[in-house]
Parts: sequence; structure tokens; C-alpha cells
Amino acid sequence: MRAVPPAGGATPVPPWTAAQRVSLTAAFRAGRLPHALLIHEAPGAGGEWLATWAAQLVLCQKSAQAPCGACAACRRVWAQQHPDLSWLRTAEDSQQIRIEQVRDLAADLALTSHAGGYKVGIVTPAEALNRFAANALLKTLEEPPPRTLLVLVTTQPSRLPPTVLSRCQRLPVGAPARAEGVAWLTALRGAGDWNAALDVLGEAPMLAARAEPLELAQIAADARGTLDALASGSADPVAAAERWARAELPLRLRCFENWLTEHVRRRERDGTFLTELRAAPYLSAGDAFLNIRELFGLLDEVRDFRATLDVPLNRGLALEALFRRLAPAQRAP
Ligand SMILES: [Zn+2]
Repeated sequence: MRAVPPAGGATPVPPWTAAQRVSLTAAFRAGRLPHALLIHEAPGAGGEWLATWAAQLVLCQKSAQAPCGACAACRRVWAQQHPDLSWLRTAEDSQQIRIEQVRDLAADLALTSHAGGYKVGIVTPAEALNRFAANALLKTLEEPPPRTLLVLVTTQPSRLPPTVLSRCQRLPVGAPARAEGVAWLTALRGAGDWNAALDVLGEAPMLAARAEPLELAQIAADARGTLDALASGSADPVAAAERWARAELPLRLRCFENWLTEHVRRRERDGTFLTELRAAPYLSAGDAFLNIRELFGLLDEVRDFRATLDVPLNRGLALEALFRRLAPAQRAP
């Protein structure tokens, strides 16, 4: 996917974050803003956008209208060039946020603010903190310097230590309704088949914002073609797995999940769903593609595989094993 610059000053406000913005503003104005927030976002729902907005809220120069979005401080926050805002992300060559990075952040937060106000640190994705880094962060969470705001952004809070979780105030950001997501994408990027893009990506407008709808449609069509061919026995699982492992694997796996879900839905429409569910252990699956239990089983495995893509493993081999399950020769006669 083409990388589109992250949200800039002209980015339309995602309307589905309204409640979160109202509660943060109220807390800030009342002097009750917690020093640590944990934004728990649905994937692609705008957690980083909201973290950036929260940084603007406390760093804006026009405190009565904060965040105004227009003052020099607000613009620097968007450009990720504000001296009182630090971002902690995974390094290019790593899937983790390391202890040295957390120590640098802690040292930075301990310094006096350049503007005489808040210091802000945004950690994203927070589940990338390794064990040592999370421990180091705990020290800052336990004894934060005054006027500090730490914002952790995560889609998987269960992967963070309970000690870290318990010191952050949670702010959930759910996925928007389809129409809301499409309207926002159209305002941001102009007309396009955003509906189809969200069909592939799920209700994740922030992911779609960085994609090309046409390119996405091509990858989806290609993935569907490969899966149909594998299921009819006319494609080679080894070659297909090698091709998928080379590029856009997370996206192709999403397409795999969608493809399996469609097959499940088709069974529901056919009315074979319950019959098969009851009879599945005794049913031959040879006639009508995988039976319903096999479909669900495979769907779980594809999801698990996608969730563990950051773990080093032989992706080609793992994919090949999944593909072989589709091949007619592998199924019961
Ligand atoms: Zn401002």
C-alpha cells in the first residue's frame, strides 16, 4: 500500500471520537486530566489521531479554545515537531519498543517544558513495549513529573502488564459505523470506492486513509482468485504460499478471512448451516467445499496467523499448511 502522510492540520475530525474529545476537554478544563491515558482503539479507528488531538489540547497556545488546531503549537504537534511532544514507536528494523527508548522519554519528560506548560509522550503501539521497556515506563507512571501527559495507544491492552494498565485511565475508541467511515474518507481523500476498501479492511478508516482503493481492490480480487483456484484444486499451494508471503501478506490474510466468512454466510443463506453444524462430524465435505466446522476452524487459524505475524516464523510454510486444507485432495473422500 502506498504510504499517505499521516493526518495533517487539514484532516477532518473523525466524528466517532466526539464523546472522547468532550470528556478529555472537560477533564482538562477542570484540572482533572489524568497523567496517563490508555487509548484502546479498534484497529484503524483513530487511536493515534486522538492521542495527537490530546497533545494539542494541553499544548495549544489558546487555552480557552484548546485545541484550536491553528496556532503554532497545534500545527507543530500535527507536524510531529513540537519540542514538548515525544513519540515512542517501534524502530524501522524492530517490532519492539526498547528500554533505551523509554529511558530517553523519561529523561525528556523530566526536563522543563520549552513552552512552560505540559510535556507529552505518546507511545504507539503500546503493546510493542517489551517487558523491560514496560517496567521502565512503570517508574514514570508511578511518579510522573508535574504537568506530564503520557498517552499509550493500543489495539491489544491484554498484551500490556496489569501494573501498567492499572496506572492509566482507559479511553476506548470503537470502530465507526460504515456510513460514518465512508463520509470521513471521502472528506479526507475525495471520491473513491471507500465502501469496497472498508469491505477489505473492516471498519478501519485510518487504515483505508493510507491505502489506494484501486490497488486494494486489485489485491482483493487477486486473493479471491487464488483461494477459488486452491479450493477447486487448480492452483499449487506451495507456489501460492510463496507468492503471498512475498508482499502484502497482512492484507491478503484479511482477504482470506473475508473469503471464509463469505462461505459461512453462503451456508447460512442456503439453510445448510444448522444441518451441517449438527451433522458436521459425520458429513462428507467432498461435495460442497469445506463443511461449516472446517470453515470456522480455518477462520480461527487465519486470524491467529495474522495476529502473530510479528513473531519470526516461516510464513511460507505456515501459509502452505493453511492452503493445503483448501485443496480438494486433502479433504475427506
Ligand atoms: Zn492551538
